[in-house]
Amino acid sequence: MIQLPLSKLSNVGTTIFSQMTQLANENEAINLSQGFPDFMPDHELLDHVDYFIKKGFNQYAPMGGMITLKEEITRKIENSHQAIYHPDSEVTVTAGGTQAIFTAVATFVKKDDEVIIFEPAYDCYEPTVELFGGVVKRFEMKAPDYAIDWTEVRNLVSDKTKMIIINNPNNPSGKILKENDLQELIKIVKDTSILILSDEVYENIVFDGKQHLSIARYPELKERTLLVASFGKLFHVTGWKIGYCAAPKALTNEFRKIHQFNVFSVNTPIQLALAAYMKNEDHYNNLGQFFQEKRDFLRKGLAGTSFGLLDCEGTYFQALTYDKISDKNDFDFASELTINHKVASVPFSPFYKNKRNDHVIRLCFAKKQETLERAIENLSRL
Ligand code: GLN
Repeated sequence: MIQLPLSKLSNVGTTIFSQMTQLANENEAINLSQGFPDFMPDHELLDHVDYFIKKGFNQYAPMGGMITLKEEITRKIENSHQAIYHPDSEVTVTAGGTQAIFTAVATFVKKDDEVIIFEPAYDCYEPTVELFGGVVKRFEMKAPDYAIDWTEVRNLVSDKTKMIIINNPNNPSGKILKENDLQELIKIVKDTSILILSDEVYENIVFDGKQHLSIARYPELKERTLLVASFGKLFHVTGWKIGYCAAPKALTNEFRKIHQFNVFSVNTPIQLALAAYMKNEDHYNNLGQFFQEKRDFLRKGLAGTSFGLLDCEGTYFQALTYDKISDKNDFDFASELTINHKVASVPFSPFYKNKRNDHVIRLCFAKKQETLERAIENLSRL
């Protein structure tokens, strides 16, 4: 037996999303844990895929992506945020948001560089930074409002700060950044060479008439930002694993040096299908309203229960407190809920390095009405 080399990520196990989905399947529970829709994507989109596959578009796409798709992406960003990206030199189609994040970190973070993240943080940020020798500095956002104290964030900045990672709308809290937050961020990075990695994969899922303030709207931020988005969330196709990174040319040039050796290029017929589908803007402009109805249905159904409902301004996740029901930690509570009450959720503590426990769990409401109804029924019994 050979002696195994030391793990490069000795503290990392299997992601909480895979764990909870597995537990849900083992217990035949309603799976509101991992974030994915349980309904079909639009048939029109599927027909486009079918068309391009059968038409013979089955070989490598150009490394940065199909130009028709990159043009639709830049058109979308311009229409939504009045920001201009050059389709050919400033957009790279990636194999999902996670790959875009990985590549962005791999491209810029070197040994001992510091990267600031906001917790609860999506679980890939920290291990990816560590893999490239970076050091994570964290600001903890806390239940119930998950507000950011920018004075504290400023204190995390040093001459080693290479990057700040933001996630807006935030998974798992469902909070969005406000104008004031972005103005504070502008002040922090002004006259520095700090880069921003802006994970905006839930960009179109914002509720109650609020506006998604993309980093692209702010020239002082855009010039230093790698903006990451995901078609999985936009068109209910998380299993297609396709997204993109938009960034100024100089940053994109560097990003593609890594991208070309990591994935090289992304699924050709799906890129073409997405481009054709995106010609109709209604396909993404109504997403907020679509999910708002699901959010409201879930919130209404849970209003009379012992769960506490935290604000949900965006994403397709509803955060729930359960301190009236149990004093167990959130991981044990979520496991028990799956096994005994047949509803799987995601606990918040894995989104914190110190496993901070505010007794909060996350439910995904990107589900059919009947799925939500069954979940509400089970949760009402607690
Ligand atoms: N983004 C999804 C979520 O938050 C999970 C994706 C994954 O399982 N890697 O649930």
